[in-house]
Amino acid sequence: QLSNISLTDVIYKFVIVNVAVLGCGKTTTSIILSKLLPKCGHVQSDNITKPVKDKLTRMALETLKDHDMVIIDRGNHLLRERKQIFDEFEDLYHEYLPINTKFKFVCLNYVSNKHSPELWNLTRNRIIKRGDNHQTIKAETQGIKFAESIMKGFINRFQPVDVDHEPDSKFNVIIDLDVHSNESSKSNAVKVLNALFEYYPEVVSPVSDEKVEQAFQEALDHKPELTIK
Ligand code: GDP
Ligand code: MG
Repeated sequence: QLSNISLTDVIYKFVIVNVAVLGCGKTTTSIILSKLLPKCGHVQSDNITKPVKDKLTRMALETLKDHDMVIIDRGNHLLRERKQIFDEFEDLYHEYLPINTKFKFVCLNYVSNKHSPELWNLTRNRIIKRGDNHQTIKAETQGIKFAESIMKGFINRFQPVDVDHEPDSKFNVIIDLDVHSNESSKSNAVKVLNALFEYYPEVVSPVSDEKVEQAFQEALDHKPELTIK
């Protein structure tokens, strides 16, 4: 009697995937969100040592054992990187989570126009101001020109989100963000909270302005613990 074995109870987990370039505030926004959403974890590619392989996906799956959501904090500026996330989740999830788990993939789309001079000026200023306060990019020690060349590399290779084709057609929700204000990470975090509440009210509750402001200030003060060579 196969019908006695019920696999119909699906467990949903939420995977939040950044698509961005350097200095868009991915890490700052991720910290704000993980502070405000207790069920939301945060895994950072910048904390991973080589060989990288599938470590980021494995960390995300490990996090989802005791969280409903996870933010994958990597630029994912290439279609290949987005495809890698979908493929690895499919291939590896059963090692970590029950077989009846399904995923909702949410894209945080930070870049509407990679050629925008405002985007360049704002992210460049932020990377300079961040200085050495990053795991791998030491803008102060290595110099501005070097940091600029890394930034330009990401911008030149950047492949925009294209919902009509794979892999981006696999996203369940795409949230368009922008990086054009001095408080962009706060307004972007609020946009994400509102969108998640709209699409998935059963997993996300509204958050007060005071809590958002406090999380934003704490996130701006964040210093990574490690340096990776
Ligand atoms: P990422 O490279 O996309 O992860 O960018 P980060 O989150 O590391 O942000 C780059 C730098 O800009 C860091 O020093 C942040 O503290 C700072 N930053 C991020 N968001 C904001 C913001 O909304 N306002 C201001 N003033 N600084 C920000
Ligand atoms: Mg970062």
